[in-house]
Amino acid sequence: MTENICPKCQAELEWDAGYVCQACDLKYNKIGNCPDCSSQLEKLQACGAASYFCNTCNELKSKSRVQFKFEQR
Ligand SMILES: [Zn+2]
Ligand SMILES: [Zn+2]
Repeated sequence: MTENICPKCQAELEWDAGYVCQACDLKYNKIGNCPDCSSQLEKLQACGAASYFCNTCNELKSKSRVQFKFEQR
């Protein structure tokens, strides 16, 4: 499982219509980046499972290889 950790204080993020750090009072978007070209991936929701598509490589990326980061919003 991917851990959802606040990049500022390392606390575990909670889900409230988005990722929230209670300690920092900040909201985050989870961004997936392509492991091959570092472009931002498009999240596709299919059959209940999320998959990630890179428009630059023009192919689907395995979730296990996607590099996730949290961006403040
Ligand atoms: Zn925090
Ligand atoms: Zn790519």
